[in-house]
Amino acid sequence: MAKKLLILHTGGTISMSEGEDGKVSPSDKNPLVAALDKLNHPAKLYQESLLNVPSPHITLDHWQILKERIEHAVQAEQFDGIVITHGTDTLEETAYFLDLALNTKVPVAITGAMRSSNELGADGLINLQSAILVALSDESQNKGVLVVMNDEIHHAKFVTKTHTTNVATFQTPTFGPCGLVTKNQVIYFQHLSQYEHFPIERLTKRNVQLVKAYVEMDSFLLEQLAQHQCDGVVIEALGAGNLPPSCLSGVKKLLDANIPVVLVSRAFNGITQDVYDYLGGGKQLKQQGIIFTKGLSGQKARIKLLVLLNQSLAQPLANYF
Ligand code: ASP
Repeated sequence: MAKKLLILHTGGTISMSEGEDGKVSPSDKNPLVAALDKLNHPAKLYQESLLNVPSPHITLDHWQILKERIEHAVQAEQFDGIVITHGTDTLEETAYFLDLALNTKVPVAITGAMRSSNELGADGLINLQSAILVALSDESQNKGVLVVMNDEIHHAKFVTKTHTTNVATFQTPTFGPCGLVTKNQVIYFQHLSQYEHFPIERLTKRNVQLVKAYVEMDSFLLEQLAQHQCDGVVIEALGAGNLPPSCLSGVKKLLDANIPVVLVSRAFNGITQDVYDYLGGGKQLKQQGIIFTKGLSGQKARIKLLVLLNQSLAQPLANYF
């Protein structure tokens, strides 16, 4: 029997078209909806235009809507796989939120396009076809949310958009893609050591901020965040996880106010480590109570912190990073 697949459209370039002036914009009529019968796959397809927004307009409420729709599709409607179409700008964030929040073995593949539907070399339909093949594959079960773009499959946890326009924009720093889509096959060659799920009901604590470190960074922003009692702060630190001494009084204010501070590196590859023992060095930061991460980007660490802050946790927060 053919597998039953649900495609949830949310907008983005994959659902847009180029006008005569060369500008790309959304329209009420999603060009993907009519194009589905051009695709080659053995599935029984259902599709819904859940949202129609450019992905910089995506909000935490949209994530909640998507999560609930997918849970219903899997639990009550017995779909065998889910495909999401999404703008690429924030695709990795939606993917990682769903990755953490959904608890299903059913494959969930998310895709987008770098060129809109009527541009030369448009990549939307081929990406959609690849995502459908991934969502149909038994091997995609229990792998969390998979980002499928440009013939590659990436885990939501580490994938990131690396180029403003190139179709090969999505990459997984340090580790590479976890699989490939060939003409008619889905092939995996890497697995994550751990697939995490958190039973999130609602995101009520939402004020988690992301700040990037730089030469002679001062404490201004960090002090403001401490004063305004935000729920958490992620800092994109330097190198292996170090900060300029000029911002340390701000860090102290955050920690004194019991605001969790999570550290990632602004470097593209590798993980943070508490190796340096000097003022602002990782060793001292960790001793002060800053939480170190293993390979998450700033935007992903922010999502993880959001999800964790909205849970009752059995262990200290730092143990989950
Ligand atoms: N700005 C667009 C969006 O994220 C880009 C894209 O879809 O690729 O919606």
